Amino acid sequence: MGAFFKAMTKPYYITTPLYYVNASPHIGHAYTNILCDTFARFRRFRGEKVFFLTGTDEHGTKIDRAARDQKQEPKAYVDQMVPKFKELWKLLEIEYDYFIRTTDQNHKETVQKILRNLEKKGEIYKASYTGWYCTPCESFWTKFQLAEGKCPDCHREVQALEEENYFFKLSQHQDWLKAYIQDNAGFIRPESRKNEILGFLEQPLEDLCITRPRNRLAWGIDYPTSKEHVVYVWFDALINYVSAVGLTKDAKKFKAHWPADAHVVGKDILRHHAVYWPIMLKACEVEMPKTIIAHGWWTMAGTKVSKSRGNAVDPVELVQTYGVDAFRYFLLREVTLGLDGAFSEDLLAQRYTTDLANDLGNLWFRLASMLGKYFEGRIPFFDLKSSVRSSPMAGALNLWTSVGAAMDDYNPRQALSEIWNLITGANQFIERTKPWELAKDAAKREDLASVLGHLAVTVAHVAVILQPLLPVTAAHILKRLKIAEKNVFKTQEDFIQPLVSFGVLVERGEALFPKLEEEKEEKI
Ligand SMILES: [Zn+2]
Repeated sequence: MGAFFKAMTKPYYITTPLYYVNASPHIGHAYTNILCDTFARFRRFRGEKVFFLTGTDEHGTKIDRAARDQKQEPKAYVDQMVPKFKELWKLLEIEYDYFIRTTDQNHKETVQKILRNLEKKGEIYKASYTGWYCTPCESFWTKFQLAEGKCPDCHREVQALEEENYFFKLSQHQDWLKAYIQDNAGFIRPESRKNEILGFLEQPLEDLCITRPRNRLAWGIDYPTSKEHVVYVWFDALINYVSAVGLTKDAKKFKAHWPADAHVVGKDILRHHAVYWPIMLKACEVEMPKTIIAHGWWTMAGTKVSKSRGNAVDPVELVQTYGVDAFRYFLLREVTLGLDGAFSEDLLAQRYTTDLANDLGNLWFRLASMLGKYFEGRIPFFDLKSSVRSSPMAGALNLWTSVGAAMDDYNPRQALSEIWNLITGANQFIERTKPWELAKDAAKREDLASVLGHLAVTVAHVAVILQPLLPVTAAHILKRLKIAEKNVFKTQEDFIQPLVSFGVLVERGEALFPKLEEEKEEKI
């Protein structure tokens, strides 16, 4: 057969949830985006194509109200909120590929097409519904779900409401979804959250009310077959994951992107992603995403950090004080993905001083200073095959594999731990080999070159593999070592090149992590 075709390489497709723009972004939003950015960058680092999607969720009661509070039209209100998110992503070095807004025309049309299609297939019906409504949560509850007559989520007062609405037949999909989750290990991560969802599916699922009467809420996507209704904000928002890649609009584009490889979400919205969303896809005859990862909350004194609780930490201020990489490092290193983390500025300052300034910053400073002192700032010629006792170099060459395995397992904490073990080892190597002693003996010139050479190669590999995790710091070190940034390392063979060149003039530069002001130090 003479036909020639190139296999289409599907990009690694990763998504954040769409953030609700009723308040400025806080540490929780920052955490999700930093996680996704790190995974996306690591795939690019390995030469994979990536499609990293983030964006904003802009309809619904809470936004309508936030706009009214500011005496604005909802669209004008969301238009001035979106840049706050985009600016924070820039500050945090988030390299997303596409930013979707649920007020985008393309998204709205896709939502409407999907609804028409689901109606045709008999997945939607109209009914009268009496429920108890919690306005802050935008949730209808049945009598049985109420907690002592109040909203089970926020414990606020609820109002009885009878309305005619459209319903999506969730209940008829319960059995296959349960089986699918049981049969597909890794579909919901971590395991504890998967079990939570399976537990939830032990109870009969109720059909999902997917509209709001326009006379109660006008700020939503028009329901395609009724002028009196708008689409429920969650149903609209979830569809972004497929509308962004062309479902109902561009079949070729859709085929080239879907299924998503990872939806990363906070644990509070896992049910929407692990129950409603798979059922919506199944009803549309669209393939399931590969994995849904639920991360924990950042707590301060035991409560979730959120704007509505008034205990939000401003990521911008933290970045201004500690730098973007210290902020990224803390969030990625402090907790295992999936668990809750206790946030305090003291803990961040502590990590800054011990791990970043004392371990990594100091390693760079010692290497660059000794090169300056003993080799006029140049990487000395040394025999790459020379064996130097307890050299960290072999470990550094293995980082591609160990860090790669951790990142493939969505465990950035483990990845950083692998790298920091090596940094610690490199500092110990300096203590053990005492280059300053070797420098006193002209006969040991070659040994000195080997020790500093092994150290330079080690630091170069540390910097290279840190690019996806701490992009700013990695770029500084690579620049000072005259190594090109954003190299691609598809295999370990690519990675084990020495990277540094003999004779190259290294710049010591400013401290990578300057000493914190005394006031901050005292707090630690
Ligand atoms: Zn509530």
